[in-house]
Amino acid sequence: MLEKEIADYLVKSGNKSLNVKAFLFDMDGVLFNSMPFHAVSWCRAAKEFGLEISERQAYMNEGRTGAGTINELAMQQWGREATQKEIEDIYKRKAEIFVSCGTAEPMKGAVNLLNSIKKSGLKIVLVTGSGQKSLLDKLNHSFPGIFATENMVTAFDVKYGKPNPEPYLMGLKKAGVLPTEAVVVENAPLGVRAGVAAGIFTIAVNTGPLPDECLLKEGANVIFPSMEFFAEHWDDVRNIIKCE
Ligand code: MG
Repeated sequence: MLEKEIADYLVKSGNKSLNVKAFLFDMDGVLFNSMPFHAVSWCRAAKEFGLEISERQAYMNEGRTGAGTINELAMQQWGREATQKEIEDIYKRKAEIFVSCGTAEPMKGAVNLLNSIKKSGLKIVLVTGSGQKSLLDKLNHSFPGIFATENMVTAFDVKYGKPNPEPYLMGLKKAGVLPTEAVVVENAPLGVRAGVAAGIFTIAVNTGPLPDECLLKEGANVIFPSMEFFAEHWDDVRNIIKCE
């Protein structure tokens, strides 16, 4: 497992070795099983403001900031960018509906995986496009001792957001490591694109309804079927990625 994928990554990136010191984790669909709620909230909130988005489109757009998604819909359907007020109103409504959906549970396997990675002495950084306060506040409760505030990149820190490499480049900076010293863990096509564009070995965990092809097309270096699978195979992964 992974030997071939790492060899391919090194050839493609022109680097000599992978020497992993940090893991950069996306949040929605990786740490929390929150994507079904996000998809429904996007559909309902957009509709209230005269915009349309299908659940599949919501999954395809995952990773963008709220403003990014709203602007994309406005450009497609209104032929113009959304105003600041429209962005605020739609995103506020989307966040309200999201909260009313109930509590998004931690993804099965995520706690074990994060604890194992921490035990291995590796840095863990959160890199999310989310500005959903209810979930960001829940991180410490669900994953105690894992995410320090200084090791988080959220919607509030970035200018462009995913699929731009910016958030992952900021994550590298926060971890104080090079692209070849990190691994990205993502579930969304645009998140994978961002990780790959930042030059980082990117593991896609396909926890949603999209076919693997959507993640491979964006350059995912390997696909795992679930976070549980990842957690169960952590020892193998650690041995292969040469963690110091
Ligand atoms: Mg995600």
